[in-house]
Order: sequence, then C-alpha cells, then structure tokens
Amino acid sequence: MHDRVKFILFLNQQAKTYRESLESMFGQCDQRFVLGSIKESIRKDGKPHTQYPNEFHFKGDCQVDIHIGKDAWQNCDYDRATWQLAHESVHLLDPVKEGKATSLEEGLAAWFQNEPKFHSNRVRKYIKQSIKDSPDCYDKAEELVRRCMPQLTSVVKKIRSSGVRIQKITAGELAPYLPNVDKETIEHLCRKMDYT
Ligand SMILES: [Zn+2]
Repeated sequence: MHDRVKFILFLNQQAKTYRESLESMFGQCDQRFVLGSIKESIRKDGKPHTQYPNEFHFKGDCQVDIHIGKDAWQNCDYDRATWQLAHESVHLLDPVKEGKATSLEEGLAAWFQNEPKFHSNRVRKYIKQSIKDSPDCYDKAEELVRRCMPQLTSVVKKIRSSGVRIQKITAGELAPYLPNVDKETIEHLCRKMDYT
C-alpha cells in the first residue's frame, strides 16, 4: 500500500479512537456535524485547523474536515500528525468557526493532546519533546484547564447535556461546580481566546 494511503487510513482510525474517548468524558459530539476528510492544512501558516468545505452551519450534516499541519503531512510524520489530530478532535465535540473558540475550548484541546494517558507510547514520546521554553496562548489555556481538573470533565459533560455548546459555557454556569477554583480563572476560561 502507498505510504500516503496508509498514513491517511491510520489518522482516520485514530480519529475514531479519540472520538470514543472524548465522548465518554464529555458526552456525544454535536450530531449536526459529520467528519469529512483528514487532509493537509491549506492555511498560509501551514498550521492544523478544522475546515468547513460547505460552509459552517447548524442545519445538519455539516461537513467538518481536519487539516493536519504541513510539516507533519508532507513528511508523513505519524506522531506529530496524531498529536495535532488529538487537539482538533476536541473541536469536533461542538465545532466552532475558526478563531472564535474560548480559552476553555482551546485549553481542553491542548490538555487532551498533551495528557500522556490518552496516547500511545509513540505520541507520548513526542509530547515530552515538544515542551516549550516560552509558553504560548495554548499553553496558558491548558494551564487554566489543569487548575480545574479533575472535576472539569464531568462539569463540562453535565453542562453540555443541557444543550449548551462548549464555547457558550459561561463563568456563571461553571462557578457553582468548581467552588475551589478562583473567580479570575473561571472568567478567563470563558472568554474568547486571545491568540496573540
Ligand atoms: Zn484549537
């Protein structure tokens, strides 16, 4: 089998595994969205993202594609691509238009992709190598999320089960379930992420 075909099949299988693990923690993915294909990033910066080839809408069967970073895609880098896929898989719970996620959503995505217990040995090795000297906005969002763990997973599941999408969760909804977390952390989590 061609290397590229094997790579794509592997990523699709991995997407199923991540979906199962995420749904068991946070409840079902929004059923109005269906995963289309996993392909190479079309962004100028070559970074991974979710993409809506038929526009973003809530009418049902809205296709969402996962785009893997150019570097990982062009080298068929399984470990790096899987690590990126883990992050994007979190955005499939309640898909968002690009660039509009809250720190809660991006923090959960960064937490899931960097938490060793969810990954194979190969990806675990990659996570260790990727620890950075200067934290970026994703690292900061992940740190906020970790302050709310382990309770946060069941809290998000509970709030989602009442029909609230992750990006719409407010500080007022979170706070009663996280009495030991300071107000500033909770408010920060529920604001739109500052990507600078
Ligand atoms: Zn993200």
